[in-house]
Amino acid sequence: MPLSLFLPSGVLAVLLTAGSTSGPAPNLRVDPALQPILARMWDRSPTFRAQCARLADAPDLLVAVWYDDRVVRGTRRAATTFVRHAGRLVSAQVRLAHGHDPTELLAHELEHVMEQLDGVQLRMAIATREGVSRAPDGSFETKRAIEAGLQVQREVRRGRDTLARVDPIPEAAATHAQQSHAQQSLPQRRRP
Ligand SMILES: [Zn+2]
Repeated sequence: MPLSLFLPSGVLAVLLTAGSTSGPAPNLRVDPALQPILARMWDRSPTFRAQCARLADAPDLLVAVWYDDRVVRGTRRAATTFVRHAGRLVSAQVRLAHGHDPTELLAHELEHVMEQLDGVQLRMAIATREGVSRAPDGSFETKRAIEAGLQVQREVRRGRDTLARVDPIPEAAATHAQQSHAQQSLPQRRRP
């Protein structure tokens, strides 16, 4: 089934291909507003480059990232919806809220994509308490994603200013990934 069927009308058309082999993974499509941030992450963060390499190894998966402030609910700053077709992961739709560090949010949500590529069973991990928790709304949060987001944030900031500085600690547990095995209805309009 064409991937565009899963995306809100018009969104796919404006998402940019992140780059070629010398840049972020070609199957990572981002809102144009995020393009400069993505370029900076690529330049400065080995952790982000490793995420991109992993993503490039899964060319059948499309990761689309855009701003959507309707994602904010409670402490949520970002959300990722996974779409599977015939049991295969075909799309990850990442929505970020404005007003937070998009570097951390994007790396955090991409790590949730990495978890899915690695076949992490979130429900099982909760039972064994392997760094996974579940929010009341049913979304999952993982220690691994929290740490990846903060690591990329540190690497990007270190690249910007090598002088010693104290990073403010963001609300680490405030992002969530939703996991779904079904097609989900998505917002029909984009906000600036
Ligand atoms: Zn998360």
